[in-house]
Amino acid sequence: MSESTTATTTESYDEPLLSVENLQTAFFTEKETIRAVDGVSFDIERGETVGIVGESGSGKSVTARSIMGLVEDPGRVVGGSVRLDGEELTDNTEEEWQDVRGSRIAMVFQDPLSSLNPVYTVGNQIKEALRIHRGLRGSAATEKAIDLLEQVGIPDAPRRVKEYPHEFSGGMRQRAVIAVALACDPDLLICDEPTTALDVTIQAQILELLEELQTEHDLAIMFITHDMGVVAEVCDRVNVMYAGEIIEHADVVELFEHPKHPYTEGLLGAIPGRTEAGERLATIEGEVPTPTSQATDCRFAPRCPKAFDDCRSVHPASVPVSDDAEDHTAACLLYPEDVPQEEAVELHRDRESEREVDSQ
Ligand code: SF4
Repeated sequence: MSESTTATTTESYDEPLLSVENLQTAFFTEKETIRAVDGVSFDIERGETVGIVGESGSGKSVTARSIMGLVEDPGRVVGGSVRLDGEELTDNTEEEWQDVRGSRIAMVFQDPLSSLNPVYTVGNQIKEALRIHRGLRGSAATEKAIDLLEQVGIPDAPRRVKEYPHEFSGGMRQRAVIAVALACDPDLLICDEPTTALDVTIQAQILELLEELQTEHDLAIMFITHDMGVVAEVCDRVNVMYAGEIIEHADVVELFEHPKHPYTEGLLGAIPGRTEAGERLATIEGEVPTPTSQATDCRFAPRCPKAFDDCRSVHPASVPVSDDAEDHTAACLLYPEDVPQEEAVELHRDRESEREVDSQ
């Protein structure tokens, strides 16, 4: 989505815009502790789009909320690091979070109605963001609000700026939410299933809009979705999540052409159009488990068509899939694929022992 911007921006910065390392977020209930995000690591460079993909319950949205400091009771971030432009966020005070949210990271949710206040006009909501984050007021704020509505493709913006959210269609509302997000001029936009509630034509328009805005504003985008078709459309790099963990990471073309983890293979096999005519669409039987304890096995094993004995007693670490594929990793005992399987299993066992020692 962003070859040119990525190429130009990464040269001049020492570290990624966002760097998430071994992030752990848990929810503490009377009955159990749910490890919703369990050791997630990834980064996002300026101007690129990184996808987080997986089924419902895989931990995608909790990852996003952890990055935004929006995890609510009984949940909290219990370990790891989130750095924005080199600055650690996990120990932020609420006041510091408010500064980050909106002005440096903005979020677009699936349901635009939940993001817009029904009792204020769309224009007033954009102007409020402009006042808080850019200090704009009066006619300067109104002009900027109209300009932002025009940027997100809302026709007749001078009139629509005075309308309420219920007077907008679903697609227009999502455009308005994006305008509110842009009002803060963020470096990172987190989009959590932003097109899931929209029909296919409008979805394509919103994806196109995000692409245009990314180029114009040099935005980094973290795109959360369960839809591999959308991933193919918008992402530069992809992280596949399962039961709180990232189980595969690769460049988008590499992931689609050479998926390695059996779960990713299953997700891709379920995309209409990728199967031969007359062939049935693949499905992944079963559901994503809720992780309630530290993994001592592969959490995908009960659903995996390639599972073998060791999968039930060794937790796979994230490793390069082969010697010459440093940037393509999978958390599966079948990898690295260029070493004998027993040796690969030993490597995972060693990596897990190191992880346990580190976490003590
Ligand atoms: S570790 Fe085993 S169960 Fe898990 S994905 Fe790989 S082959 Fe399947």
